[in-house]
Amino acid sequence: MPDDASRPSIRDVRAELQVSKWLSPIHVLLTFRAPTIAAHAQPGQFVHLRVSAFGNSPLLRRPFSIAGANLADGTIRLLVRTVGRGTFMLGELFPGGELPALGPLGRPFPEIEKGREVVLVAGGVGVAPLLFYAATRDHDTKVALYGAEAELALVLADELAEHCDRTQLATDDGSVGHHGFVTDLLPETLGGLRDPVVLACGPRPMMAKTAAECRTRGVPCYVSFEAWLGCGVGACLGCVIPAAGEPRAYVRVCRDGPVFDADEVGWDLLR
Ligand SMILES: Cc1cc2nc3c(=O)[nH]c(=O)nc-3n(C[C@H](O)[C@H](O)[C@H](O)COP(=O)(O)OP(=O)(O)OC[C@H]3O[C@@H](n4cnc5c(N)ncnc54)[C@H](O)[C@@H]3O)c2cc1C
Repeated sequence: MPDDASRPSIRDVRAELQVSKWLSPIHVLLTFRAPTIAAHAQPGQFVHLRVSAFGNSPLLRRPFSIAGANLADGTIRLLVRTVGRGTFMLGELFPGGELPALGPLGRPFPEIEKGREVVLVAGGVGVAPLLFYAATRDHDTKVALYGAEAELALVLADELAEHCDRTQLATDDGSVGHHGFVTDLLPETLGGLRDPVVLACGPRPMMAKTAAECRTRGVPCYVSFEAWLGCGVGACLGCVIPAAGEPRAYVRVCRDGPVFDADEVGWDLLR
């Protein structure tokens, strides 16, 4: 785990919504003006948003990966899948509305040596931090594998493809790309590369399969986790997942992650 003293301080700001754009019936892309967060954000980090501008309901903030940061206009982008009360409230926010935002939080993806081939494995809204990575990190080869339940849910696929040398899609229903899981594409992709590193974000079974495939081949793999967060800053321990190695050892998704070396995770004990 990195030394806490090496982390930049967290900003608690009022983020003003500038643009709200629906990409599908359940996905909304939000652009907030939050210059101090934009200036320090790194791919893999997240913001913890209070979803109501006034009052305390819902009480807990909601975490979202930073999908992009623009230094020139001081904005950050969040890709939100509406699944419950908090995310529906975000979808209904009008431009000009302001929300308290804490960030950037968490451990980002590591710096990968330029000469290595980077393979991005995205599942659903797991595309958000990987799009930020693809747009801001230079590598000789960037390959994206992006899967979702159907074509409609493969939001921002064109933008991801713009930043990658090769992009392959997969859908559960076969509406576009490979008919099946995105992880089905991994063996052939990794087999064709010289010195790959894998970065993954998506549902836990997808990341477990990705980590297992990488372990078999001796390929470094970093995974970004979602979990139910309470405080978002490492105090409440509500978001822990099993750590590799010792029994009954845990790591905090919000503070030690959300990005982990796949070898740090106790995959066998993960639910
Ligand atoms: C580090 C991190 C980054 C995230 N990045 C994104 C992102 O970029 N885009 C995005 O859409 N979502 C992201 N999430 C998940 C997002 O925070 C939850 O979907 C959101 O908090 C749900 O709030 P709600 O009030 O709408 O749902 P609630 O009413 O609280 O819950 C509704 C349902 O949503 C599911 N759910 C709720 N919270 C989570 C969670 N944390 N993880 C998985 N499932 C959950 C459960 O099935 C629950 O039954 C991220 C989570 C973490 C921890």
